[in-house]
Amino acid sequence: MKKLFSTSLFMLIYSLILFTGCSEDELPDSIPEKDDYTIDLPIELSEKEYTTDNTYYLLNDDEPDEVYFNSSQRSFYVNRPLQLSLEEEHYFQLRFYSPRAISHVTIWAKIEGYDEDFKFLELEKVQPFQQLRIQIPFATKDMKAISRSGKQIRIIANPHLSASNISFEVECNDPYYQKITSSLCNWRIYFSGYSGEGSWKYKLLPPHAREAVAIALNMSYMFSSEAFEEALHEFGPLHSDSNKTLIDKYQLRKRVLNHSGLRFGHCSGVNGLGGGETYGLNEWCYLEHYVDDKNETHTVFHELAHCIGYGHDGNMTYEQTGPGWITLCANVYRALSLAKELPVYSRRFMHTRKNPNSYNKNDLNVPSKYIIEDPELDLLDGGLTQK
Ligand SMILES: [Zn+2]
Repeated sequence: MKKLFSTSLFMLIYSLILFTGCSEDELPDSIPEKDDYTIDLPIELSEKEYTTDNTYYLLNDDEPDEVYFNSSQRSFYVNRPLQLSLEEEHYFQLRFYSPRAISHVTIWAKIEGYDEDFKFLELEKVQPFQQLRIQIPFATKDMKAISRSGKQIRIIANPHLSASNISFEVECNDPYYQKITSSLCNWRIYFSGYSGEGSWKYKLLPPHAREAVAIALNMSYMFSSEAFEEALHEFGPLHSDSNKTLIDKYQLRKRVLNHSGLRFGHCSGVNGLGGGETYGLNEWCYLEHYVDDKNETHTVFHELAHCIGYGHDGNMTYEQTGPGWITLCANVYRALSLAKELPVYSRRFMHTRKNPNSYNKNDLNVPSKYIIEDPELDLLDGGLTQK
């Protein structure tokens, strides 16, 4: 009974807040007639309506490194690769860190003082690495919108709208989007030229950065998967040192999932460099990890093991005490790619080998270790005309 009473008290207080906080009570004197609300929300945009006026591609080949090495400009969390914000002059901005497109994206907006959020934007498709910027029309015009509960509501023009009083939320049932956002990792991914000297002399190029996004999304999905968890426990013992000190596999998985982030760079003269968030890979690593490329992933997982604190003894980086981490990870990465379960399971999503923006002239004729047949990829690149 007490519980019931407090619930109704809560509801009463809640309703009072709703009334007092309702924007309708705080409207300025000059409320226009209903007929004046001629522009309806949501704004609907199809793929054809993306132009250079509203769309830019993140990490494109011509992007200056001052931009992509600046983590306030280019960074994302692996489980939140779609970023929504309000920028200056009332520009709504969407950024998508993904080598694959997603379909049917709805953006809801919530303005402080309004009871409910409302449908602001409907996008037929969000392109790979798209940055979309559009000026929000309800900053300067009163508009009619549909609320979350399906009611028609009036949004009153407010030139003082800023990032602090409006928020956005995405709704998207695209299976690929659901997959990447379901990751249990919350790694922050960003890019760096590091010292620009020695092994870091040849800095990360934009095509490497785009591949870094693929590697990050793939690894975070893989480590979150049940397939990995099962394989980890079925696999032989993992050792942290040459004395074969056993690694607790539950703790190991936690350590990977809870890692803070990776700062991708490019190194040469060595295959890779890793430790903490430092994560450097040689150019070949950015190309060969795919099963329909050479499917070489040993450095990718070797450096990751350094990032989570393991050294060269035992079998977490090199396999000094028997088959270990890099074999386990390679097996799961391969299996999930062949099953098309990894988010970016084919080199054909980006065709980085065809990109002339590279240090070692890319060998275009590297045969696939495994062939992946896929109508989605055929649509992207016209089919498997090359091996
Ligand atoms: Zn090493």
